[in-house]
This record gives sequence, C-alpha cells and structure tokens, in this order.
Amino acid sequence: MTATGRIVVAGGSMGGLRAAEQLRAAGWTGTITVVGDEPHMPYNRPPLSKEVLAGTAPFESLAFTPKPAAADVEWRLGTGVVSARLAERTVALDDGSTLPYDGLVVATGMRPRRLRCPGPRTGRHTVRTLADAQDLRDELTRPGARVVVVGAGFIGCEVAATAVGLGVREVTVVDPLPLPMVGPLGELLGRALLKRHEERGVRFALGAAVAGFEGEDRVTGVVLGDGTVLPADVVVESVGSVANVEWLEGNGLDLSDGVLTCEQLRVGGRPEVVAVGDVARFPNARYDGVPRRVEHWSIPTDTAKHAARALAAHLTGVQADLAPFAPLPTFWSDQHDFRLQSFGAPVLGLDDVRVLDGEPDGDVLVGYHRDGRLAGVVALGGHRAATGAARYRAQLLKQPALTA
Ligand SMILES: Cc1cc2nc3c(=O)[nH]c(=O)nc-3n(C[C@H](O)[C@H](O)[C@H](O)COP(=O)(O)OP(=O)(O)OC[C@H]3O[C@@H](n4cnc5c(N)ncnc54)[C@H](O)[C@@H]3O)c2cc1C
Repeated sequence: MTATGRIVVAGGSMGGLRAAEQLRAAGWTGTITVVGDEPHMPYNRPPLSKEVLAGTAPFESLAFTPKPAAADVEWRLGTGVVSARLAERTVALDDGSTLPYDGLVVATGMRPRRLRCPGPRTGRHTVRTLADAQDLRDELTRPGARVVVVGAGFIGCEVAATAVGLGVREVTVVDPLPLPMVGPLGELLGRALLKRHEERGVRFALGAAVAGFEGEDRVTGVVLGDGTVLPADVVVESVGSVANVEWLEGNGLDLSDGVLTCEQLRVGGRPEVVAVGDVARFPNARYDGVPRRVEHWSIPTDTAKHAARALAAHLTGVQADLAPFAPLPTFWSDQHDFRLQSFGAPVLGLDDVRVLDGEPDGDVLVGYHRDGRLAGVVALGGHRAATGAARYRAQLLKQPALTA
C-alpha cells in the first residue's frame, strides 16, 4: 500500500511519538509531521517527580528512542499549534505558518492546574516538564529548604517522598481531603499510605484548603483556610491538570474535559481526526461506556495503536478490523521504598474494597469490586505485592465488560 498526503500530529511527547510509530505500523506511507511546543524530542515524564528530582537520572536517560520505521517523521519542535480549522483541514502554527493535512492526531496532553490564591508567585512550582523538574530540584537542594506540597495525589506524594529522600528538613503535604490519594484509591489504601509517608518523615495537613501565600518577592509561607501559616521556602502545586485543547476551539467539539472521542478515538464525527494520550476522553468498552480521560503512562501507547489503525484505514481505504477500544488501564507509582501497582479501574469499585492478600501495614493487594465483580486491583509494597497484582491482570483482561 502506498499512501500520499500528510498526517499532522499536534503534540510532540509520548502520545505524539507513539502515534507516528503506529501510523507507520498501520501501513501509512505518506508524510507525518509532528508539531511540538517543547524544544526536546519526546521524553519520559514519570522520572520527573522521582529520579530526575532525586538527581539520579540525567536527561539523556529519559529520551525515547523512536522506532526505525518512524525515522523519516518530520519533527517541528519548539513550535505550538495555535488553532485548527477542521472543516478546511488546516492547522495554524505559532511561527505564522499554516499546515494543510489529510489526517490529524490530537496529542497535546495536559498542563498543571495552578492555584489562584493571592500571594507571590516566585518559589511556587509545578512538575510536568523537564525544565519544571530541573528548576524544582535546584530549589529543593538549597540547604535548609522547607517544602510545602499542595495536593496529596500521585504527583504530590511522589514529590514529597523524593524531597524527604533528598534530606529536605521539613516536607508538609496539604490537601482538603482527609487522606492521601483517597479519591482514586479509597480509604483503605489512603490510610496505609498516610502511615507509610508519616513513618518516613512526611508531615500532613489534611482536611485543609490553601487560602493564600505569604511573602514579598517570593513565597515564605502557605496560609490555610483556618489562618494557620505553614512556613515554606518552596511550594509545589500538584492540584491536578488541565487539557491543552484551546487550539481546537471554534470547531463545535466537546472540549469540556479533554477532547471527546468515539469508541474508535475519532473526534467530532470526523474520521480524519483522532485523539491519543492524556488529552483523549474516550468510552472504554471494557467498562460502562462513559467517556473518561486516563492519565496513565500506558494510555498513550494503547490509544496510539488503536487511533492509528482507525486513521490509516480511513485514509488508505484499506479495511481494518476495528473492535471498540477497550484498554486495561495500568499504572504504577514509586514513593520512598515502596511501589503502587494497579491494573484495571479501581475507581469504579470504590464502594466495595477488599484485601485480597497480605495486610495494609505490609505488602498488601487490594481488590475493587463493582456488583460483586473485580473492577481493578492495586498492590502496595515491594516486588512481591506487584507480582501479586500482575496475577490478576489476566483475569481482568478476560472477564466480560463491567456495564452499569
Ligand atoms: C511528573 C509526572 C509523573 C508521572 N508518573 C507516572 C507514573 O509513575 N506512572 C504512570 O502510569 N504515569 C505517570 N505519569 C503520567 C504519564 O507520564 C502521562 O500519562 C504521559 O506523559 C501522557 O503523554 P501524552 O503524550 O498524552 O501527554 P503529554 O506528555 O502531556 O504531551 C503533550 C505534549 O504536547 C505539547 N503541546 C501542548 N499543547 C501544544 C500545542 N498547542 N502545540 C504543540 N504542542 C503542544 C506539550 O508541551 C507536550 O509536549 C506521570 C506524569 C507526570 C507529569
């Protein structure tokens, strides 16, 4: 099959790279142009809150090695897509140029949500890019730094753990919820995680909202809703993320939380536009069909495989057997000396959480059930616990869809 024409991939990170590679694997031989606003070739983000912050992973170790089949992909880095006209099949770039396309892949991912509280900005950090991680590391390694992490989710807890590992004197995590990671993992693991973090030196101010920041030129403290001030030289805001979709506005799309796709990852009913990675809000045929975004490392690859096949089939006219997209979500999180390893969708089974093996103070394997069936498993602990979770992967893959 020989194809002519151009596919533009908007977003030059993991999702963009995987989409380009999978388009080649799906038989697309036309031009592929990836437009990415970061200056770097795609790199791996998970180490940013762990090894890069800890200083144990140099940048070179993060760069993905593109597959040989994608060697002829054109990379336009340091360039943003500012708008798209889907009806005309063009995107406009921030260098003033316009790129016509035959196919478009939306892979623009997320950016950190920022707190809109009064106070100075200097000294307040987020962790999404390599530059973010390098800046934060410089500040964490200043002698005597006191750190307040706002947000007890995955990234907040990872950053707190890394800071403690670096020998930071005081690390306090603030969150309005009563336990760390309670939203995605529930109370049982939330309590277990709180205990482990506290035992390793992290302090918590839970059930507390941030009202503002103290300081003149840079932050010196975090003001909580009840007036308490936590002294801080460095603040890390890890309060969720916002989808990079503004460039798609004006095309009648549902951009309310990422970009809505159908079960083939097509956007706005247009077979020539697909979305991949964190930014895609897709129905998962494995579950209840409710479209959701999934910010796990496995998703750029899973979505890219499916979306590339759908797009290549449309553009080349060669039929592909496209079952509805039904990935098994997978994530891990390394904190201190322990790991969380998850398979499936624990969040769909938060009303029925059971210990499957071990005990919360040691290695533990937790099952999340919906209507009596397993929706997901999470292991907390060392290698043994993670192996235990992997045993359930096959069961989760095999079982029929969990419908509402
Ligand atoms: C600090 C951190 C730690 C993580 N740790 C884990 C972990 O331990 N386990 C796990 O499972 N997952 C983890 N993740 C999640 C995982 O890294 C993401 O799911 C993955 O990076 C998503 O890739 P993506 O390509 O969809 O989006 P992104 O990586 O966000 O890439 C989108 C790219 O598009 C660019 N872009 C945005 N707008 C435009 C535009 N208009 N024009 C051009 N380019 C644009 C962005 O700058 C970026 O380069 C972590 C994420 C972060 C940030």
